[in-house]
Amino acid sequence: MAKAMAGQLHRRTEELARHGVEPRLAILRVGDHGSDLAYERAAAKRCAALGIGVETVALPGDAATEAVLEAIDRINADERIHGCLPLRPLPETIDDSLVRHRLSAHKDVDGIGPASLARLFTGSGEGFSPCTAQACLELLDYYGVAMRGKHAVIIGRSLVVSRPLALLLVERDATVTICHTKTVDLPALCRTADILVSAAGKAGLVGASCLRPGQIVVDVGVNVSGEGKLRGDVCFEQAEPIVEAITPVPGGVGSVTTLVLCKHVIQAAEDSCGAGRD
Ligand code: NAP
Repeated sequence: MAKAMAGQLHRRTEELARHGVEPRLAILRVGDHGSDLAYERAAAKRCAALGIGVETVALPGDAATEAVLEAIDRINADERIHGCLPLRPLPETIDDSLVRHRLSAHKDVDGIGPASLARLFTGSGEGFSPCTAQACLELLDYYGVAMRGKHAVIIGRSLVVSRPLALLLVERDATVTICHTKTVDLPALCRTADILVSAAGKAGLVGASCLRPGQIVVDVGVNVSGEGKLRGDVCFEQAEPIVEAITPVPGGVGSVTTLVLCKHVIQAAEDSCGAGRD
């Protein structure tokens, strides 16, 4: 899927190049947290391969909110930059809400601002869907998984991943149940799912007791084991023989997420030169 998606995106950057436009992403990083640097590297590599320019705006970990807002203002005003990815969570000293509200909706390629949120709720307007939630949907679409009338169970209720995904799935006519740490009898609820998405950040949370044949399982969780290996929330060895399909970790939702980010930057560049959305 990643190969097919990358091919399509590459054709779109080539078309933009013919119009003299290079799609360009600004990555805004505050501090040098390891997970931020890893995501920055992955996104920059993916962008470079697709003909998307990247520049990192790096501020020290003790930067004041005002300095971050000034950086956002410069990015908003820079016509060469089509999208901005602020790496989050920001340090606790920074007012995240002010940052989200300051970023131009046209450049909000990870869907964090109020206009993007409104777009999620209404299905129209400016902004973009959050990349990880959109990646789950793109995976289901690519593999021909019907969503209409299906019961989707999402483990997690975060504003970053789970709630946006719930709205996107409802938009596609799924019936959605959101679970969290206070949910009673999680395994029984999970077994009722046609589409089960886990975004809890708990390695091995979803085992055989949560699963039944025929299910589609999307594992959003990224957990680092004691040996430094990446693991999802789902116990893959237990799930794979039971369910119809499952996304692996690594190499599943995470890979598609960076491609969705690229897609949004390209869309923003197309919008800026009047080429319109696909
Ligand atoms: P988060 O803000 O920590 O939210 C986790 C959610 O899972 C919370 O709503 C929590 O419930 C729920 N939860 C945790 N343990 C549970 C349990 N035992 N039973 C039921 N619910 C449980 O995390 P997030 O930012 O949404 O991220 C979730 C996971 O996705 C993480 O592993 C993260 O690394 C990964 N992630 C992956 C990508 C990607 O591109 N692949 C992108 C972003 C995040 P409460 O609300 O009750 O606490």
